[in-house]
Amino acid sequence: MSDFYYLEPAVRTDLEKKFSPSLRKAAIKSRVLVTASMLRDFLASCKEGNVIIGPYSRFFQGEDGRHCVPVYSLDSLLRENERWIVSNIMPPKRLRDSNGGVPNTSWKMLWPSSSKLFTPTAYPPPWPFEPFLKDDWHPQEKFSNFFHTPTLQQYIPRHLLPKTLVVHDPWGLLCATNARGERVCEWVEKDDVVHIYKLHPNTHPDARARYNEDLEEFEAQLNEEKVKIDAFLANPHSHTPLPDGMLYKPLQATRDVCGPAKPPVYIVFPPKPPQPVAEVAHLYLSKGSTLGAGNHSFVYSAEFEIPRSLVVDELLCKECVMNDVKHILEEQDGKHGETRNAKWNDLCGRYVLKVRGNPARMRRFGEQEYEISSDTHETKIEYVGPYRAIQTKVEYQNLERAPYCEHLCKDNVHPLTVKTRVAAKLSLKHDPQLANEAKNYQLFPKHFFEHHNGFTVIEPFKNPIPTGAIVPQFYGHYQIDRANSPESVDALYYSPILLVEECGESVDPHKLNADDL
Ligand SMILES: [Zn+2]
Repeated sequence: MSDFYYLEPAVRTDLEKKFSPSLRKAAIKSRVLVTASMLRDFLASCKEGNVIIGPYSRFFQGEDGRHCVPVYSLDSLLRENERWIVSNIMPPKRLRDSNGGVPNTSWKMLWPSSSKLFTPTAYPPPWPFEPFLKDDWHPQEKFSNFFHTPTLQQYIPRHLLPKTLVVHDPWGLLCATNARGERVCEWVEKDDVVHIYKLHPNTHPDARARYNEDLEEFEAQLNEEKVKIDAFLANPHSHTPLPDGMLYKPLQATRDVCGPAKPPVYIVFPPKPPQPVAEVAHLYLSKGSTLGAGNHSFVYSAEFEIPRSLVVDELLCKECVMNDVKHILEEQDGKHGETRNAKWNDLCGRYVLKVRGNPARMRRFGEQEYEISSDTHETKIEYVGPYRAIQTKVEYQNLERAPYCEHLCKDNVHPLTVKTRVAAKLSLKHDPQLANEAKNYQLFPKHFFEHHNGFTVIEPFKNPIPTGAIVPQFYGHYQIDRANSPESVDALYYSPILLVEECGESVDPHKLNADDL
């Protein structure tokens, strides 16, 4: 357990006395904020923050600042899924036949040339899979087998949400009536029916405020790494924060290396490129994946196929980087070091032994004392001194722009899109509930959608609870675009669609206890 701090009533009273009248009101409000990181952030933001924190600094020692905690890495999950498919599913027979009857085991050779998302040639076989394949196929022969569509559990700022949604609705569920469509059957037995939806305009002034904040945060993150790189290149030294990069031929970290040393070469990576804005996504609806039906709406577990680059990071090839830096060093130093600047041979730095880490942290709750984090002390060999900084010219790679280099193409076979699972809410005709719900999501502050580290105690309850998201972490509000939707009939009602994270459980009033009520 980390970042936990139970605010004793005596301490709380003492803190409140120290607040100025203007802050006392806020302090009383802050009774629900009792994790160390949240309290520290709150106090630091107060005018007298530093004065107040002083006597209580021991409570905050070793605590992380308040930060968002992702549920899982969608990036890793999707990559693992792709690897599993490549290593467990043989390419289709017709492709083997087209290779002169010889089984074609090289996935690299099957990679198509198209880089246009969602076009059939942009999918290396056996992609694309039919929608809702998971429902029909459960490979059981290996424990490690998995083939599933992960739930989208992360906040996507509005400016990155796909502007156009191509909705596949063979059962006619978008009309949102109780006589919804025909019998449940496999997807492939139905004729696909496609409608075009567009992202709902974001007109409320308060919603614009969060849109602007998200955009500013997005741009600030991009700028942050660039500033770090510039600062390091201006003063490449161990006391300057290291930007993203790696050592060229790092020394083996043994005690023998301790002592004076020449400046090691630190390769500075380029800043990570921003996520490209997603223009189009596809949504697949199936009557067989109904989650619930209420007085206002119908909810389906839907497949949301989005550009891969929206949720999966681009790759930087380490082999290309090493080759590039080798070439740069040869240019600067000569092939045998004949033009190498003498300053790179100076023993102006040194490797030293350092002890890093924190002691165990103990907290007393009532009569018992608990270790809430263990001793993390460890000895490390660290370099102190100037670096020889080399900025690589190698760029991050994205298949939407160009094929992977020879080192990455074999192990990175995948389509340009990924499928995720979301809940799709559709509302009855004339029912304003879905529009109101979407409006509320737009007005909520961003932290409502996020899980944070630490725990909270909300009075009058006594037990700490994790500071989790209050509303679904993801949402997107779409409406029919009749002008561009050839299969949509003017006379028919097509429900707006609210996409949200598929989370939570239906409330069963009979199972609620006194605390729940
Ligand atoms: Zn490469």
